[in-house]
Amino acid sequence: MSYLSDETLVQLAQEYGTPLYVYNANQISEQYNKLQSAFKKVNARFFYACKALSNINVLKYIESLGASLDCVSIHEVQLGLKAGFAPDRILFTPNCVDFAEVDEGKKLGVNINIDNISILEQFGSKYKGSYPICIRFNPHIMGGGNYKISTGHIDSKFGISIHQLRHIERVVKTTGLNIEGIHMHTGSDIKDVNVFLQGLEVMFELATHFPNLKFIDLGSGFKVPYQDGDVQTDIDLLGEKVAEAFAAYQQETGKELQVWFEPGKFLVSESGYFIVKANVIKQTTATVFVGVNSGFNHLIRPMFYDAYHRIRNISNPKGSDRIYTVVGNICETDTFAWDRTLNEVREGDFLVFYNAGAYGFEMSSNFNSRLKPAEVMMLDGDAKLIRRRDTFEDLLRNQVI
Ligand SMILES: *Cc1c(COP(=O)(O)O)cnc(C)c1O
Repeated sequence: MSYLSDETLVQLAQEYGTPLYVYNANQISEQYNKLQSAFKKVNARFFYACKALSNINVLKYIESLGASLDCVSIHEVQLGLKAGFAPDRILFTPNCVDFAEVDEGKKLGVNINIDNISILEQFGSKYKGSYPICIRFNPHIMGGGNYKISTGHIDSKFGISIHQLRHIERVVKTTGLNIEGIHMHTGSDIKDVNVFLQGLEVMFELATHFPNLKFIDLGSGFKVPYQDGDVQTDIDLLGEKVAEAFAAYQQETGKELQVWFEPGKFLVSESGYFIVKANVIKQTTATVFVGVNSGFNHLIRPMFYDAYHRIRNISNPKGSDRIYTVVGNICETDTFAWDRTLNEVREGDFLVFYNAGAYGFEMSSNFNSRLKPAEVMMLDGDAKLIRRRDTFEDLLRNQVI
């Protein structure tokens, strides 16, 4: 993998200021190639789940790789179109939106994935079989690293329960809906290939109920390593098993189905580096804090998901090991990491958070009236500013004064 070096990151921090998000496009394409190679024995399509990172320059780059796009809001759909994705390369998978938003997606000509019976009925009544759609099921399989990012369990608001199949069939039969796809997405950070394979078994069973079916969408949730020794989803093994399963299905039924995936984290997580500056070193009775010029308003994953992000002091990579608690400047508990061994940190040093590409900038806010960071994209070693740092005026934009 072509990781960015300490020297490059320090240079970027000096040139563009901190806090700064940097995305290395070459790593995105390396991840995309891994997927393509893992699933080469099956007819697969990959829809990048752009809620992970939706800067239009990143979208354009991913479009240029040949990937398709998974969108969860109509505005993501509009961004995708603006980035150059043709409508048939966009999949719209909204949840709890009103019918008008689904209708808007239909007008824009994108693939539509429906995840509740109310919308299914409305869509069927209005369009009958004239516009093929996909149905999102909840297969009731536990997957995902933690409860907040699991979507397949019994309490989940996502998808239509497989136990409601009869009800779906009633709606489909009565309205003449044309079902070309069935979908599941059971969560994020799924280590175990078997979660996907169990899901696939359920999907094959459902498939027999939809004669026009063209694809099965297995969603995403591929786990990437966040710390040394972390288990990650074995994509190659999954590719082998999925290819075997589809071949067997084809043999049994005579039908060749496509398999779709919606990787978010897998494509962009490792490409992202978040650089901050150590503002103060503060010794208390219990610990030594490094207070940095950022906070959970810029990278919320540690506070929100208890997520672990590897951190390094790139200004003093040979300094002796010291133990620190790394905190942000937000006026509320704002801890990035407890008891982290870092090369000695001096005030003014740059620290980098790794795996900051997915759900980093994307979940940032202006809490505490702080400005959002700038974003830079690296391609073949060349840096390009892809979002200017917020200014004070941005805080007032839309406020009526
Ligand atoms: C969030 C999401 C994804 C992407 O999940 P990752 O864990 O980032 O790969 C895929 N599909 C849907 C429907 C999603 O909501």
